[in-house]
Amino acid sequence: MMGILRRWWASEHRAFVLDVLLAASVGIISIFVAVRVAEAQGETVVIGAIGLLVLQSLALAVRRRWPMAVYSVVGFGTVGPPLRVKEHPLMTDALLAGRNLRKTYRLSRRNSVEALRGVDVTIQPGEMVAIMGPSGSGKSTLMHILGLLHAPDRNDGAGPELQIGGTDVTRLSDRDRTRTRASSMGFVFQSFNLVPTLTAEENVALAGEYAGSSRGKARSAAREALDWVGLADRATHRPMELSGGEQQRVSIARALVNEPMLMMGDEPTGNLDSGRSAEVLALLRRFNRERGQTVILVTHDAEVGAFCDRILRMRDALIVADERAVILEEAAA
Ligand code: ADP
Ligand code: MG
Repeated sequence: MMGILRRWWASEHRAFVLDVLLAASVGIISIFVAVRVAEAQGETVVIGAIGLLVLQSLALAVRRRWPMAVYSVVGFGTVGPPLRVKEHPLMTDALLAGRNLRKTYRLSRRNSVEALRGVDVTIQPGEMVAIMGPSGSGKSTLMHILGLLHAPDRNDGAGPELQIGGTDVTRLSDRDRTRTRASSMGFVFQSFNLVPTLTAEENVALAGEYAGSSRGKARSAAREALDWVGLADRATHRPMELSGGEQQRVSIARALVNEPMLMMGDEPTGNLDSGRSAEVLALLRRFNRERGQTVILVTHDAEVGAFCDRILRMRDALIVADERAVILEEAAA
């Protein structure tokens, strides 16, 4: 019971229900006050209406919906959509567009590492892209920024810019950042990152619950996702009872369970032998082809790169080349 309550409290459902309750109760109280004022003084209905909007804007401000609170004051009071973001019609055809992305890690007052030194990158929907380069060249940092796991620095005049589907995500709150990530991105890491005490199905279902699904829905979606990766018969196994390749397929099922538009992997085949590594790549390729999911893979493995449509090569915190890969199967044909 407590578990269900706690999950509900953590879900987006709660924020929405609270917003609606808050706006409704403020609205009812304001109308009541307005009617009393109007009864007493005849022509003060207008004051009542203004009072209603101000109260509603206060309510929205309390819920930290500042832009909606401002709209509310000027007369369009409403419970806002969950995500308010600026549209950039010029770039809406790109899935991801980053401009001047920088990241400096400060180790001490005198010592810092520039992990990204102003990277521009555009990724189209449906592409399968490898980010390659030597260790320390900034690959993981770039992936973490594109995946909204880290924010780019914003310390110089030009400022960074990052758009997803034409929407500016540079200035999202932590909450909206998390929400966008949970609903539209799936991640696969080198070390699988499965919860050891949970079964394969429970591990996958967790991602569905994070994105706001009910437990029952998340469980059935998890079974379906395990079926996609060929592990329907391993649903009740714990990570310890699975091979490395199987664990990585579970983590791919977890990344896919919310049917994200974007899949990202940081060395997803780094801990696998070449046979298992090929299986995992083939799986990602299949989802990319069949469902049009965009895939971005960080790798230093040339075979992984050759599997992709495009290779972004990094060196010293910059992208130094943007190449179309010769796809192995086409070369063989
Ligand atoms: P890659 O994935 O290409 O190996 P990274 O993006 O992980 O490279 O790192 C780029 C540079 O930033 C490296 O020099 C690395 O040591 C440094 N770096 C990465 N993360 C941190 C961190 N959290 N703190 C300090 N330095 C970091
Ligand atoms: Mg790395």
